[in-house]
Amino acid sequence: MKHTCNVCQKCAEWDSGWEWYGSISIQEDGLPVLKTCSEKCRSRVDDPKRWLLLLWGKVGAKPSKKILKNFRRLPEEAKAVS
Ligand SMILES: [Zn+2]
Repeated sequence: MKHTCNVCQKCAEWDSGWEWYGSISIQEDGLPVLKTCSEKCRSRVDDPKRWLLLLWGKVGAKPSKKILKNFRRLPEEAKAVS
């Protein structure tokens, strides 16, 4: 499965340089997670919460406040639908 970096829009297979910001509950609610392909892209994500809200705003999602408290940065492959 190919993933798209939300910072530089690169589309590629997941590998060791990739990380995502999110949580299992974010994925269970069907909301997109924030995917990043490299340290360079992560250095541009100054505030992951803001980036996630922007991303969800684009798809018209209305996340609960609780969800935003539990997200974290994860190195393993994102299993999100989008
Ligand atoms: Zn990138």
